[in-house]
Amino acid sequence: MNVYFDNAATTPLHKDVIFSMNENAINLFGNPSSTHSFGRKTRAAIESARKNIAKYLNVSPLEIIFTSCGTESNNMVLKMAVEKFAVQNIIISEIEHKCVLNTAEDICANSNVNLIVLEVNEKGHISLETLAKELEKAEGKSLVSIMHANNEIGTIADIEKIGVICKKYDALFHSDTVQTIAHYPFDLKALNIDYLSGSAHKFHGPKGIGFLYMKQSAKLKPMIHGGGQERSYRSGTENVLGILAMEKALNIAVENMDVWKNQITELKTYFKVRLQAEIEDIKFNGDQENNLYTILSVSFPSKFNTDMFLFSLDLKGIAVSGGSACASGANTGSHVLNAVKQPLDRTSVRFSFSHYNTKEEVDYVLEVLKGF
Ligand code: PLP
Repeated sequence: MNVYFDNAATTPLHKDVIFSMNENAINLFGNPSSTHSFGRKTRAAIESARKNIAKYLNVSPLEIIFTSCGTESNNMVLKMAVEKFAVQNIIISEIEHKCVLNTAEDICANSNVNLIVLEVNEKGHISLETLAKELEKAEGKSLVSIMHANNEIGTIADIEKIGVICKKYDALFHSDTVQTIAHYPFDLKALNIDYLSGSAHKFHGPKGIGFLYMKQSAKLKPMIHGGGQERSYRSGTENVLGILAMEKALNIAVENMDVWKNQITELKTYFKVRLQAEIEDIKFNGDQENNLYTILSVSFPSKFNTDMFLFSLDLKGIAVSGGSACASGANTGSHVLNAVKQPLDRTSVRFSFSHYNTKEEVDYVLEVLKGF
């Protein structure tokens, strides 16, 4: 049996997304910058996609910029906010995705910008008091970048409260929402967030397309210069097929959000209960009350602690991740599991689900795990 439990790394394309991509590839090949009818048709489709994505977030279409991925969106926020708003302090948590962590480190290593890395507790939460204290003592403009849901342990941060604190101290607030876009509803009118990032391949869209939300009052400078596409915020001929496929995937996900959420939550709960009942000394990483429903990070006791564990699962047809998927292959240990102080004699595996997964798959994985 082949089981794909690595949906936090990437998701399979929804078949309706594939069909619409085929159709669009045939019908919408015009360059959206061309003024003839072929170009205008493509332009209209892109603007309609922008409108739909903006509607999901309850923002203006003028606040949505298409990018190549979550990594690009996050890079643009950090690098360009520093330039545009003379940011003096970047405040992040120690469990941010590497595309935030490494970017922030690079900016601060090559400038006078201060990098403040907030520790997290064993559940993966920053202290809101510490954030407020750091902002209070910071000199000059600050940019706070705290992810919504952690991609390794699933802990969900309280972005509403973080937004309130940022507002109080007049700091810019970016949240990496790559793991939560299309999985939860968003109303950005009700939150104080200046920037957030999305990536289509995390919600059954294609790889290589993402977006950035930039609040009207916090518009950035462009990071990529050229022909002035995306109202000059991000030049380069648009990834038309990607943009339209991302819109389609988002529409499908929003339409099915409650059904899929319930289905995946039920599957995850079933897996958790059986794991604890049938395998000795199982623990779960991250805040289990405020956890992304698509992720289950399981901490196994020492008898599983072998380099061969993930490899053996792979041989049995089970695809999972031993840390952040984006860093898999580079087995340098997970900065997230280190931060939440996973004991060295334990080993963690991230199982991550989509609505395509079934109880039969969970049963199979349990049988394999019980054989170790
Ligand atoms: N941020 C988070 C939380 C992620 O999980 C990922 C990918 O795993 C990224 C950013 C990077 O997104 P992309 O693969 O679109 O560059």
